[in-house]
Amino acid sequence: MTLLELAGVSVHYGRIQAVSELSISVDEGEIVALIGANGAGKSTTMRAISGIRPLSGGRISFAGEDITKLRADLRVVRGISQVPEGRGVFPGMTVAENLDMGAYARKDRKNLPADLERVYELFPRLKERRTQAGGTLSGGEQQMLAIGRALMAKPKLLLLDEPSMGLAPQFIAQIFRIITEINQQGTTVLLVEQNAQQALSRAHRAYVLETGQITKTGAGRDLLADPSIKEAYLGVA
Ligand code: ATP
Repeated sequence: MTLLELAGVSVHYGRIQAVSELSISVDEGEIVALIGANGAGKSTTMRAISGIRPLSGGRISFAGEDITKLRADLRVVRGISQVPEGRGVFPGMTVAENLDMGAYARKDRKNLPADLERVYELFPRLKERRTQAGGTLSGGEQQMLAIGRALMAKPKLLLLDEPSMGLAPQFIAQIFRIITEINQQGTTVLLVEQNAQQALSRAHRAYVLETGQITKTGAGRDLLADPSIKEAYLGVA
């Protein structure tokens, strides 16, 4: 079943068109990756989906409903949760308080302790550091916290913007393993990545974005083997 659908979506910043009539879909249960060079429009696409940036054309539907004009906070209630580029951890709050903030829109408060435990199982490091201020965590730990906080909203769709950015290689592999685990536990994932190697090997399907338009799409592993993708995004000729 289609969970998310973008049909002919365009986004402008003033007179600059960052995304041009883009159409993509994400099925329930999938991991879908959006790859592309700097400035291709990946983050803008994510902002359009989470509702931070209005569309100048096109339509977005989620779980069969048109959400094109729905406010960002109400999209969270519907089940769309975004981990923004740069993470946005609350620096003065503890790890536990940051996680609690992720659940602010939820009505089923009685399930929170079990969900917190699930986040701590995915990220034992966060449990160890639950009383530490978010701002004093390492980059990799802050990325874990941002993902954990998004999971506390119990999303149907998790949007991840550059989860590997700035991370050491051993953290990158770990974050992608955890993304697969989150997906296997029932959460659909749309992720934006510059690390095409990791993204394509983890994603069921992927789209290649170039200057605001989709130029290629296919199964993650097929794109990994595609010579033009290898040359442009995987650093192998
Ligand atoms: P990166 O991988 O470098 O983060 P990206 O694919 O996520 O790139 P976007 O951040 O979506 O790309 O940017 C797409 C285009 O829109 C770029 O040309 C960028 O300069 C422009 N853009 C993004 N944000 C703004 C803004 N707030 N005001 C004006 N132009 C913007």
